[in-house]
Amino acid sequence: MEEVRIALRNVGKIKPDSIEDYIAAGGYEALKKARTLDRGKLIRTIEETSRLRGRGGAAFSTGKKWSSAYASKEESKYLVCNADEGEPGTYKDRVILEGDPHTVIEGLLIGAYAIGAKECFLYVRGEYEKSIKLLRRAVKQAEEKGLTGEVSIKVVSGAGAYICGEGTAIVNSLEGLRGEPRLKPPSMAVRGLNQKPTVVNNVETFALIPEIVNKGAGWFGAIGAEKFPGTKLMCLSGDVVNKVCVEVPTNATLQDVVEGFGGGVVNGKKLKAIQLGGSSCGFVTPDQLDTPIDFDSIGSIGASLGSGAVYVIDESRNLVDILWEIAKFFRHESCGKCTPCREGTMRVEELLEKLAKGEGSQADIELIRTLADYMQKSCFCPLGQSATTAFLSAWKLFPEDFAAKLRKEA
Ligand code: SF4
Repeated sequence: MEEVRIALRNVGKIKPDSIEDYIAAGGYEALKKARTLDRGKLIRTIEETSRLRGRGGAAFSTGKKWSSAYASKEESKYLVCNADEGEPGTYKDRVILEGDPHTVIEGLLIGAYAIGAKECFLYVRGEYEKSIKLLRRAVKQAEEKGLTGEVSIKVVSGAGAYICGEGTAIVNSLEGLRGEPRLKPPSMAVRGLNQKPTVVNNVETFALIPEIVNKGAGWFGAIGAEKFPGTKLMCLSGDVVNKVCVEVPTNATLQDVVEGFGGGVVNGKKLKAIQLGGSSCGFVTPDQLDTPIDFDSIGSIGASLGSGAVYVIDESRNLVDILWEIAKFFRHESCGKCTPCREGTMRVEELLEKLAKGEGSQADIELIRTLADYMQKSCFCPLGQSATTAFLSAWKLFPEDFAAKLRKEA
């Protein structure tokens, strides 16, 4: 299996701070072409022919998001690029932003044309200082070349919280409010930033748009899996030989990613599990490695593709130790808006610490299961609802890890 580089087509080949390099590589041709097309037709082509689905984690149809905003009669509409990449083990957006910022800006400008937005925002993780610097320079270069036209693009440094990667929390943050999620409905396409229609797409999604316009939506739609066509960036980390970000067609299997690109488990050890999609997702076992990495196939084995994080875990590890780390992360990142998450993440972390240190009991495990059930049903947003997904998955797949950690009675 070879990489198929669409979003990463220029990464490593051009200087990221040079618009001349990007233009010499065919950059901004897609924008010129898009601006000659009928907007509705452009959106239908993205929706029906390319069948592009968002690469941020939810895999919602990009064309559908665009068409709702396009259909709105509101004069002001906003387009936002979600570059607040904060999922542990995920670094794909940074690879694009630091290697080819203009492709994201071109995708953003095509989207702005399609939905009729005059104001765009690049909301970038605050810690990504290099990305912010490169994007600001790239926006200035595009403005000086007259490529932005009437569209203004602002590069905004994120508020430093994991929850700000959630669409409604981004909008809160852009309005100067606390980075907390908002109640839906109404959907963002109806009432988002400043109560106006707002579309939020991920960096990887925007990076695919210029080539879809250049080479044709049919070309893109024929790559990879039928229902989730194109490519997906996968980020390898953990006990794997090659910790790399690769772009593969969506009919590639987990085996292709972990063994082919990752080079397998370090030190010749056996694979125990993969945590796929990030800290809010469950585990995949070695017998499931023949699953293609498209959103629906991964969903059919009870896992989630999420952001494309592939955290490889070798046979020597006890998952309870990993779950404690995950619980610390969620306790720290809970925004505090709702009680089940604010209190629940704290209690789960305390209980997992006890277990990881060999001081826990069966009753502690049962208590985490009860808390997980409450949190899934009553937390306000996906952060709290999925904070215990990894625990529930590990409990189901590796009960022996929990048994090994139980307090030895005197
Ligand atoms: Fe905030 Fe957690 Fe409640 Fe979401 S679930 S609103 S992150 S406290």
